[in-house]
Amino acid sequence: MAGPEGSQLNFSKFSNVIDGKLADTKFTRHAINPATNEKLPPCPVSTPEDVDAAVKAARTAFKTWSKTTVEHRKQQLMALSAALVSHKSEFGELLTKEQGKPTIFAEQEVDYGAYWLAGTCSLEMPFEVVDDTPEMLVKTRYTPLGVAVGIVPWNFPIMLLCGKIAPAVMTGNCIIIKPSPYTPYCGIKIVELAQNFFPPGVIQVLSGDDNLGPWLTAHAGIDKISFTGSTATGKRVMESASKNLTRVTLELGGNDPAIVCSDVDIATVAPQIAAMAFMNSGQICIAIKRIYVHRDIYIPFRDAFVECVKAFKVGNGFDKDVFLGPVQNKLQYDRVKTFLNDINSSAQNVATGGQIIGTEATGLFIQPTVVDNPPDDSKIVIEEPFGPVVPLLQWSDESEVIARANNTDMGLGASVWSQDMDVAFRIGEALEAGSVWINEHMGIKPTATFGGQKQSGIGREWGVDGLRGYCNTQTVFLNHRRQ
Ligand code: NAD
Repeated sequence: MAGPEGSQLNFSKFSNVIDGKLADTKFTRHAINPATNEKLPPCPVSTPEDVDAAVKAARTAFKTWSKTTVEHRKQQLMALSAALVSHKSEFGELLTKEQGKPTIFAEQEVDYGAYWLAGTCSLEMPFEVVDDTPEMLVKTRYTPLGVAVGIVPWNFPIMLLCGKIAPAVMTGNCIIIKPSPYTPYCGIKIVELAQNFFPPGVIQVLSGDDNLGPWLTAHAGIDKISFTGSTATGKRVMESASKNLTRVTLELGGNDPAIVCSDVDIATVAPQIAAMAFMNSGQICIAIKRIYVHRDIYIPFRDAFVECVKAFKVGNGFDKDVFLGPVQNKLQYDRVKTFLNDINSSAQNVATGGQIIGTEATGLFIQPTVVDNPPDDSKIVIEEPFGPVVPLLQWSDESEVIARANNTDMGLGASVWSQDMDVAFRIGEALEAGSVWINEHMGIKPTATFGGQKQSGIGREWGVDGLRGYCNTQTVFLNHRRQ
């Protein structure tokens, strides 16, 4: 196992971590570098026996870990955060290989992961005094649930994983991480690194194929599932969790609108919105996915926006100046192609892009695509593409654009862009979304509550609400008069 700073981490061998030990599996699989179609190193295919072993170790560890002080848990999380940063270049390189994102953003994600581990530690455990009178003390305290499972998607395999580990263990839980089969490598290594700072069984990782998620969510020894992924899978997770009434937090899909008012400075705002729509090749739950631009500035905004998008370089994340890496996997690539096919077959105006420039063999690349004012009922407006394809839409009436922005089952994020704060807040507060941003988008913090309205999720992650999500609530009544 690695030394205190993880100096002996081997970035070419990948094993499960069960009960503090590296655990190889009989069968292995491998993920694919989406920029080159190259096979990445073998990684585990866990079995139901591995799941049982990890759950058993976690339940044992919970007995002592849950009794440690919050200060001690914070210290260990801070130490893991520092160790992660000390390996920034190795994790950055590995992340570009498995996820496809440019190395500059991959290293930024390592920093974000470290920030989530350390930043969560600036929170205090929730505790509420409901009533404190000469007659009665009523207080609400929060106790750890037990063993959590953290199910992680492929778009931010480091940051989202750290965003589950930190609140889980800070509140005294143990956690079993399940990375996406498309991006298992960084997650496996971070949990290996964590063994230097946490007792066996507190933080474990199981990697596997599509069977593993359902085995974990159905397991009677699991007390909490923290799931981040698509709405469709989230529903399956909730169904599975219902058998044991396992607690769930579901962070699901989004279809974020950005409403651009007529008073914005186009030269300032268009590049920001373009970046927040196409970053990570559009594969961000809170990427801007529908851009409503006021009719008075639609044409100049569209032209400035298209200029920015045309300047984005697409390619292998290791190449210089690349902004958009490949789409992460073949399934997603094929899904994004269905949007391009629909745009073509319904003769929508493509302002730029529209081409598929890679193949499975040469890398899963798609040219960033802007659709010019498609109908409100078109596929690209209604559904989340989770790829580099974005519609620009015109609006003129405030109440109408609010209704159009809210006309979706999704409710993750939304933004308003204006120099008039009264207008911006009025529109922003009318939007049905868990996060609303004024003159920005995608702002998140480990100390700020995050989550979706409607079918974008259930429960909240991060912030004090996120800590509560890993806890039992216990209300204690102390009657002074009857002593
Ligand atoms: P996905 O739902 O296909 O997979 C997510 C994870 O769930 C993976 O680890 C996968 O192996 C696992 N999984 C698959 N089937 C399962 C099952 N039946 N039971 C348990 N686990 C199962 O999602 P994805 O394609 O990896 O990610 C893209 C989606 O995630 C997008 O819709 C995006 O908007 C959403 N997302 C949401 C957030 C958020 O915070 N709300 C963040 C990132 C991504």
